[in-house]
Amino acid sequence: MSDIATRVVVVSTGGTIASLPDSNADALLSTASGDDLLAALGTLRPEVPVSTEAFCNIGSFAMDLQISFRLARRIDAILAGPDVAGVVVTHGTDTMEEAVFLADLVQSGDKPVIFTGAQRHAAEPDADGPRNLADAILVAASPAMRGTGAVIVFEGEIHAARDVTKVHASRVGTFASSEHGKLGEIDAGQVILQRCTALRRSVRTEAIEDRVDLIRLAMGSDERFMRCALASGARGIVLEAFGRGNVTPALLAPIRDAVRDGVPVLMTSRCPQGRVTPLYGGSGGKGVAAAGAIFAGDLSGIKARVLLALLLGAGETNIADAVRDIAG
Ligand code: ASP
Repeated sequence: MSDIATRVVVVSTGGTIASLPDSNADALLSTASGDDLLAALGTLRPEVPVSTEAFCNIGSFAMDLQISFRLARRIDAILAGPDVAGVVVTHGTDTMEEAVFLADLVQSGDKPVIFTGAQRHAAEPDADGPRNLADAILVAASPAMRGTGAVIVFEGEIHAARDVTKVHASRVGTFASSEHGKLGEIDAGQVILQRCTALRRSVRTEAIEDRVDLIRLAMGSDERFMRCALASGARGIVLEAFGRGNVTPALLAPIRDAVRDGVPVLMTSRCPQGRVTPLYGGSGGKGVAAAGAIFAGDLSGIKARVLLALLLGAGETNIADAVRDIAG
């Protein structure tokens, strides 16, 4: 084995990039292997040594926090190999933003971790998977990506785990980092990094707590969802609240009860951009903060849920400080 890190490992998990129409099921099914995906690259295949590893073969809508945590730990273990330059994960797009953030938080080193996939299935004449995979391999092999953390490479763009979100259900240019913009791009086979990931942190943990619920507020939301979450054993709750982190008056009491019972409540915003912060009285952010909820900066609800699941899995006792450190 060479001691120069040159090899890229493609870890396949399924998703549209690996999906083909199945006439019996009358549906798209994820069946192609990592080797099939590499074979489909043809002349797009970069001149980089690549090996493959099958992790699973499922749509990412069937992923859960435990599977994703095992994947993140496997990625970290592969990266410990001295000849490994980086890892590419082929993954469905539906939950890719959660999986990439989880992998980012769990990563202990500084080698590149690249998630990619496709919006058009593998048998489409204009499938986007091969180009995305070829780009992802190039990015994984690029020394410029050291220390950037886990990213998504899609449609020629590089997006940071913390910021990226899926914005379109079907178009190929589906990933965007709406507030802060992309990290960089791949142009004519060149990897160009335009900014860094200053707010990257990691969480050291051997476990993840998956009983963390995400509740999105709507005008006039009452307390039923929160009461139900608490009664059914939630260990943490993330609220996707209004604007700066304001809730309906009905939610103040269950927030207070959750905090009293040791169930942390994280505040995020329904707005796709901007930070939550306590400003308004009543059931506005000031009231929510007084009830004991923790404000999670500009993290989206689904990313804050991943963070809280890891912090609880780690047995973190000061969730507020840990969230502040990571959410900024
Ligand atoms: N539409 C999804 C994809 O792009 C399905 C999935 O997430 O697995 O792969």
